[in-house]
Amino acid sequence: MQDLSSGPLYGRSMNTENLTANWSIELNCDCPICKEYVNLLDYPDFWDGNVRFNIGEHNTKYSKNVEVKCPECGAEFQVDLTY
Ligand SMILES: [Zn+2]
Repeated sequence: MQDLSSGPLYGRSMNTENLTANWSIELNCDCPICKEYVNLLDYPDFWDGNVRFNIGEHNTKYSKNVEVKCPECGAEFQVDLTY
């Protein structure tokens, strides 16, 4: 059994698991209807029907004219994705 009561603190870190760091992805735009600055990913069903493109995709045929819904007012409109 290793004696944990002695030795410098940094010497014990080798046995611990790495911390995790989470990406936080947003897809923001100004809604043309309610004029709110919204994160389109807040719309609950955003990824339903939008599985053609990857996170960060831009300047491809899949990132143009993407049908989205405003999470604030529910308006439907099209956007081109940019990164
Ligand atoms: Zn809106």
